[in-house]
Amino acid sequence: MAEARQLDAPQYDAIVIGAGFAGLYQLHCLREMGLSATVLEAGSDVGGTWYWNRYPGARTDSPANVYQFLFSDELVTEWQWSERFPSQPETERYLRWVADRLDLRRDIQFNQRVTRAIWSAESACWMVDTEDGTQLSARFVVSCMGPLSKPVIPGIDGQDEFGGTIVHTSLWPKDDIPLAGKRVAVIGTGATGIQVIQTIAPEVAELTVFQRTANYTIPMKNYPYTDAEPLTVRREELRNRTRETFGGFDFDIEQRLWADVDPAERLANMERLYAEGNLALWVGSFAEQLMEPEANEEVSEFVKEKIRARIDDPVLREKLIPDDHGFGTHRVPLETGYYEAFARDNVQLIDVHEEPIVSLTANAIKTTQQEIPVDVVICATGFDAVTGALTNIDVRGRDNRSLADVWGQDIRSAIGMQLHGFPNLFLTSTPLSPAGAFCNAPTCVQHSVEWISECIGYVLNRGSAIEATAELEAAWVAHHDETANATLIAKTASWYTGANIEGKSNRLIGYPGGIPAYVEACDQVKENGYEGFLIS
Ligand code: NAP
Repeated sequence: MAEARQLDAPQYDAIVIGAGFAGLYQLHCLREMGLSATVLEAGSDVGGTWYWNRYPGARTDSPANVYQFLFSDELVTEWQWSERFPSQPETERYLRWVADRLDLRRDIQFNQRVTRAIWSAESACWMVDTEDGTQLSARFVVSCMGPLSKPVIPGIDGQDEFGGTIVHTSLWPKDDIPLAGKRVAVIGTGATGIQVIQTIAPEVAELTVFQRTANYTIPMKNYPYTDAEPLTVRREELRNRTRETFGGFDFDIEQRLWADVDPAERLANMERLYAEGNLALWVGSFAEQLMEPEANEEVSEFVKEKIRARIDDPVLREKLIPDDHGFGTHRVPLETGYYEAFARDNVQLIDVHEEPIVSLTANAIKTTQQEIPVDVVICATGFDAVTGALTNIDVRGRDNRSLADVWGQDIRSAIGMQLHGFPNLFLTSTPLSPAGAFCNAPTCVQHSVEWISECIGYVLNRGSAIEATAELEAAWVAHHDETANATLIAKTASWYTGANIEGKSNRLIGYPGGIPAYVEACDQVKENGYEGFLIS
């Protein structure tokens, strides 16, 4: 049983885990409040997702005007994005610049992977251990590890005998992997796999793509930003706008009912949104698309037709058209030349349902039908999403309860901010919050961090600890389930429903009620003196 050390006073007011969008802003807010805080970051620099995911072709699927910090005029006016959907290097550079501009680095400890966090009721603080044996303590812990930071790496027989390189996209090395002229396999065709495949196809000697599920996609409309963009809307207006829209973007869900709009107009609407080249057809169209089979069928068929028109080979076409889920029930990736990549002579597509991978040999992938020589295997196989980063740490709350055990039985949260039984532990990108899955990340990150910071300030004026009650958590879980179960997303196997991890609870991981409803629920709790939380 894990033992808590006892202290007279914690070293810090707060320990923040992770130095991506959330961790950087959380540190800034805590410092602005005059509190002492340190950030523990496993990587050697800031960036979070944008530090780790340096695979070829990585770029945002959210336009830069909303995929940035919107809390400060200086940050918005002093940084000039070069294009609408910036690449990983540019987004990483931006976060490094933010860290310097706000002088955050002096309170960030790099190469510090947290292994254990134990709540001490006697000292009313958290004892935090890192991999190298460092021990720290703080009144509060704020987890800012992002929803997609624990990779899923498939166990393939013979992996140890493989003499080439095998890599997960989120662990891509900083010194890069030379791919020109190499024989490469990509496993997985989610948002990541699609970016990798379309990028490396022209450069590699041979590319074999192993697909388990075909995805719906939308062609990305990327273009250079002029000097005027992304400042066509005032910063504060844009910040407010992103909290008033369903997905945290600057476009919103259609206000009319699907059934009230005639089919010709709906078609024109789909054409218009598709041509926007962003995620508007997914989270900026009719809500019924994600809730009612008939509406979903219409948009699914629309997108399938668009994909079909780009693939000449009928066998390939059959394989690349999704056949087991509806549009938008999986995350919709944006693509650029993805289907055209498969028309190349050096690219082949293998459906693992028809031809499963059997093993790796010294220099090849063996399937049930052939042996394919490969030099590099790229696993674009996804993540143990939202819960994985925290359950990877031995987190012990009140009465030594283990967070991994709690979520192992049932994935829950109290308004996506805390977990009953874990005082003074705040979470961002939390299960049952939009940030877990259905939000333009910086929008939700900034909202969560601001709510958490205010709450910490409130608690410190009144006591030393705050914990969500079981009643608040149960009420939020019930509301989440009711909202989630009305969607087709909750009825579809994907990482949203934990289906990619054996034994994981199948509760929809993200709150799908939209940002305005979520922000209102959080505001209500706050305005009622953190109703549903106990302060001691
Ligand atoms: P993902 O969506 O979970 O996709 C993983 C892919 O690997 C799926 O095609 C999956 O098939 C396949 N797979 C997993 N294990 C496999 C196995 N053993 N054999 C064969 N195939 C296997 O993961 P991701 O593509 O990394 O994306 C995760 C999320 O990250 C996205 O949904 C998105 O939210 C975010 N992301 C965003 C961007 C962006 O904004 N630009 C880019 C990349 C990722 P199944 O579908 O059958 O499970």
